[in-house]
Amino acid sequence: MTRYREFHRRSIEAPEDFWRDEARRIHWETPFETVLDRSNPPFARWFVGGRTNLCHNAVDRHLAERAQQNALVYISTETGIERRYTYAELYAEINRMAAVMRSLGVKRGDRVLIYLPMIPEAVFAMLACARLGAIHSVVFGGFAAPSLAARIDDAKPALIVTADAGARGGKVIDYTPLVDEALARAQHKPPHVLRIDRQLAPERLNASYLVDYEPLREQFFDVHVPCEWLESNEPSYVLYTSGTTGRPKGVVRDVGGYAVALAASMEYIFEGRAGDTMFTASDIGWVVGHSYIIYAPLIAGLTTVMYEGTPIRPDGGIWWRLVEQHRINLMFTAPTALRVLKKQDPALLKKSDLSSLRTLFLAGEPLDEPTASWITDALGKPVVDNYWQTETGWPMLAIQRGVEALPQKLGSPGVPVYGYNLTLRNEQTGDVCAPGEKGVITLGYPLPPGCMSTVWGDDRRFVSTYWSSVPDQQLYSTFDWGIQDDNGYVTILGRTDDVINVAGHRLGTREIEEALSSHAAVAEVAVVGVADPLKGQVALAFVVLRDAERYAPEDARAKLEADLAATVDRQLGAIARPARVHMVAMLPKTRSGKLLRRAIAALAEGRDPGDLPTIEDASALQQVRDALTAGGKA
Ligand code: AMP
Repeated sequence: MTRYREFHRRSIEAPEDFWRDEARRIHWETPFETVLDRSNPPFARWFVGGRTNLCHNAVDRHLAERAQQNALVYISTETGIERRYTYAELYAEINRMAAVMRSLGVKRGDRVLIYLPMIPEAVFAMLACARLGAIHSVVFGGFAAPSLAARIDDAKPALIVTADAGARGGKVIDYTPLVDEALARAQHKPPHVLRIDRQLAPERLNASYLVDYEPLREQFFDVHVPCEWLESNEPSYVLYTSGTTGRPKGVVRDVGGYAVALAASMEYIFEGRAGDTMFTASDIGWVVGHSYIIYAPLIAGLTTVMYEGTPIRPDGGIWWRLVEQHRINLMFTAPTALRVLKKQDPALLKKSDLSSLRTLFLAGEPLDEPTASWITDALGKPVVDNYWQTETGWPMLAIQRGVEALPQKLGSPGVPVYGYNLTLRNEQTGDVCAPGEKGVITLGYPLPPGCMSTVWGDDRRFVSTYWSSVPDQQLYSTFDWGIQDDNGYVTILGRTDDVINVAGHRLGTREIEEALSSHAAVAEVAVVGVADPLKGQVALAFVVLRDAERYAPEDARAKLEADLAATVDRQLGAIARPARVHMVAMLPKTRSGKLLRRAIAALAEGRDPGDLPTIEDASALQQVRDALTAGGKA
């Protein structure tokens, strides 16, 4: 472990020296004056005074050497479309998109909200924003209109880029009505909405505010748009994520620090080299998509594969066929996808030639041991789990094979990544935990380059949310429990807050509770996350009805449950839909009225809820038990 230990130690003890060296990986139009500004903790500013541009680093810079290399390979098993863009072609498309945006008034510092499915234009739009110095905010295409409206009101975009429709599992989802409803709900009215017309939507819906992209693209076909040189600490994007409150937080990322961190991670964690092909099966709406479908592979000169579709359509062999056809070297996905694939015919994996594949990376949720063992044996290649969050932008825990190929430990994503002063702390005292002792995973100040710089428009919330859980200490809380062994390997033990993780997607139980409460029949509600063999966790809802009598008959109850699920779909999107909605007469609460969510989750998982001395009425627990028995477990 000496190499790794020494590497990590240097990154923590001499961060300026460490990151000054790493900063050579990217192009600086103007060199930075100061590596790190720590004058205003917990805020940190990296590469102060340096001017650079993410689009230049991801695309323009490679034109001299790899103009004819594929930059982006797009495959949609939903539409049957496959397209390849060389770096030269990607450059041209980004310039067209940037010119179109500029013609619609977008300028440096403006926000552009991107509500798009997995299509190449999403990549063009994000990189066009980077080129113009505009701040993109990508909203996952599965989010419903009210979620979209909340993000419009927070980011106040000058432009929305959307498409006529998305597609998943063979089902077309019309986007125009969702955008329509979101705009009607939002206070902020963006002057323009640009639409990529895929000709997918069953009905040609038109709205007066919609501008179609294709005619404008033709108009600006040969236009070159110069890169705006941004100060390293200007924002590049805002990405919303769920927390404990019903209001999502806009995670803000800088420019220079992000580019450096991603470029370094491609060598030390992912071992990706220019000319390699990387397939990250995520969505551009999530942080993994931002960092490892788009920015990191392109900054490092790789070919990135973008995939629209599920892992099992047309059949469970599709991803492995892609590896063979496109000679994929690096693959990155979430454990849920593997659990889905594990249920498929094992012969499918053996049918494809996987010799090009070097490593499979997994992140986003706990990797269970059976799945880890299965895929490691089946592939016969390293499987590298890595732990991080939207906030950090790149891994905090991993086996950093590009530094030292330490042995894997089943059930652990590995050891702290260079740059992160990661420690486990006692929740009450803030003391560093002894090996084997459970604690909260925290990061010391300063966070390394690439991590969130603040909450959009709310510096105070950044400090109060992330930096205030351990009194008198400058520590960032990840809100994850963990345990570290003698060799430094950390195992993740779940969240300390009311956030749950369904199939690698982070959801706030409070958001789901608020959605359910909006239904007229609901008086009170508790949503908890419970273990699920496929998705890692699922949400279960327990509701107290205003008029229980009315829903006593079996069919009325079933109808209400369906109706409540539909309410969540409409408010948040189908990804947030609870697996079951159970009706109870009373919810377990403390005498001061706090919901005992952990006790409910324990019962739902068949565990003992333990001693609850502060419970207001212990019979509420029996209510939950009865509801679970009557309704069947998730
Ligand atoms: P998100 O911000 O949506 O990426 O969610 C981040 C959260 O997902 C973390 O705080 C963890 O709770 C969980 N998570 C991410 N990666 C892992 C991993 N490799 N192992 C266990 N949990 C993970």
